[in-house]
Amino acid sequence: MNIFNNRKIYIFLASFISILMVASYYYFDFVNAKKHEMQEENYKHQATSMQSRVAQMIYEKQKATLAIALVLSQDQRLIEEIKHRKVHRQYYKELVKKLKQDTEYKNIWFNIIDKDLNSVYRSWTNRRGDDLTNVRADLAEVLKTKKVLYTISSGKFTVAIKAIVPIMESNRVVGILELISHFNSIEKGLKKSKIDSVVMLNKKHTQKLQYPFTETFLEGYYIANFDVPKEKLEYLQREGVENYFSTGYKIENGYMIVSYPIVDFNKETLGYYIMFQKLADISTDDEEFFIFKWVAIGFIFILILAGMVNLVLFYLLARQKSYIKNIIDSSTNIVVINDKNRIIDVNQTFFKYFSKEKDIDEFKDRYGCICELFVHEEGYITRYMDGELWIDYILNNPEKRNKVKINYNNQSYYFTVGVSLVSEEKGYYSAIFSDVTNEEMYKIKLEKLTITDSLTNIGNRRFYKTKIEETISLAKRYKFPIAVIMIDIDHFKRVNDKHGHGVGDNVLIEYTKLISTMIREADIFCRMGGEEFVIIVPYADAQKGAKLAEKVRKKVAEHKVVLPITMSFGVTEYILGEDSDHLLTRADEALYQAKANGRNQVVTR
Ligand code: GH3
Ligand code: MG
Ligand code: MG
Repeated sequence: MNIFNNRKIYIFLASFISILMVASYYYFDFVNAKKHEMQEENYKHQATSMQSRVAQMIYEKQKATLAIALVLSQDQRLIEEIKHRKVHRQYYKELVKKLKQDTEYKNIWFNIIDKDLNSVYRSWTNRRGDDLTNVRADLAEVLKTKKVLYTISSGKFTVAIKAIVPIMESNRVVGILELISHFNSIEKGLKKSKIDSVVMLNKKHTQKLQYPFTETFLEGYYIANFDVPKEKLEYLQREGVENYFSTGYKIENGYMIVSYPIVDFNKETLGYYIMFQKLADISTDDEEFFIFKWVAIGFIFILILAGMVNLVLFYLLARQKSYIKNIIDSSTNIVVINDKNRIIDVNQTFFKYFSKEKDIDEFKDRYGCICELFVHEEGYITRYMDGELWIDYILNNPEKRNKVKINYNNQSYYFTVGVSLVSEEKGYYSAIFSDVTNEEMYKIKLEKLTITDSLTNIGNRRFYKTKIEETISLAKRYKFPIAVIMIDIDHFKRVNDKHGHGVGDNVLIEYTKLISTMIREADIFCRMGGEEFVIIVPYADAQKGAKLAEKVRKKVAEHKVVLPITMSFGVTEYILGEDSDHLLTRADEALYQAKANGRNQVVTR
């Protein structure tokens, strides 16, 4: 049976899908949260790495500056000159030029200071001779400790990376060499990683500037590096510079903005190294892989789950199907699933009857509809009933005992049929055929007995009565004539008397057979009792009836089998409106007349 309808399975499926949807919602929520977490983590990591990178770059630049300063501080000419506080500018100019050529530091500055902390030479300006004692605590520190110092400091000119080394002669400080480098090379290094830099000095130190090196300011803050993209300055101005004056990072407007404090040797914060990096330039490979991984896992999980559900459903369906099939097959009734015109499926019992076909497909090829086997006979269902298809007719008349007669393989079967709808959606109906062949045959036999004359095997008086009523009603409707011929054997009493009752019976049998061969199929020949017979002749008037009677009379008279006999005939025709009794009475009167006229003749009335 391929018809299947199970609410439980639909409910199960609906619940499963609902649960799956809720689970998916939470699952994607989880993945999303996880992704955000990862993103945060990634940004944090990126910020930290940017900070440590700038710290590292500053540190390395400080050390490089220190190394150069240390080498220069050993220069004998420098030692001699500082002792006498007389410095030849040209010599140091050459030195700076050479440094610029040999290193990637393009803005190395020299500051040579005597042991009284007076500036003797500045490579970047002509100013000299000023006393730095109160201005530069770091110089005083070096003078005192005789130890090198590398730091960041801000002064009158800028904030810069500095290496300060004492110039020594036999363990005695004769002066100080200060080598100054800037943030520009760091800025360039970061730029290679698409990071823009803004080096900003805080307000306090900005106010101390007298000769600002870059000459760039923003909202009263000095900017210590060249090449700051204009839009970054505008950005900081728009968002408020102070917001970036704290160590940490911000994610905003598609940028990650990381601030790193610039600290001098006293651990005082001078300002901030602010870095801009586009979020788009930050690698998100990890997150993407993460998402891919979890989505893939989720997908595979759902696939596996769906596969399992499918298997379970398949198993349940198969089990239920075979369960239903077993029930239907165990029925002794024939079960046929049809759409309105064609067989779809049948149960096993079906093949106990229709065994000539190998299987249902072969049956379908041959017949299509089981109704093709229904025999057209009064009282049985046929393909169309009162203009309705048999299935509809049975559905609409469930109270009737609907019977079909089927002729198959030279045998007749009788079934009662019930029809019910099994699938509205598919338009499938089940027709259940219960075998009533035995009862039906018995009934037919019984019915036949009650209307058959047992001696002659033709219809009896009761049969005559039914038939004449039937014929009259048809004749009324279709307007055709009926002739009735009444027959009586002449002097039959004598036959019995002379030859015995048995011979009389044989005469009756023999002459009945004779007359039966002379009438049409539509004519109805009955024995009314004793040696009296009637022929109903539809579509014939009295004249035609008389003609037939005369033919029979002659044949009987000539027959002479068993015994020679003659018969008398009374013929009449049906008069519209009269009943069957009147009709018969008139025939009887005609017959009486024939007897009176001398027998072996036909009288018409
Ligand atoms: P008629 O009709 O020519 O006037 O004379 P009849 O001798 O045929 O008269 P009636 O109709 O009175 O007699 C009928 C006889 O038929 C009476 C009976 O003995 C005989 N008969 C009636 N039924 C049977 C039957 O079943 N078998 C035999 N052998 N005889 C029967
Ligand atoms: Mg008679
Ligand atoms: Mg008689």
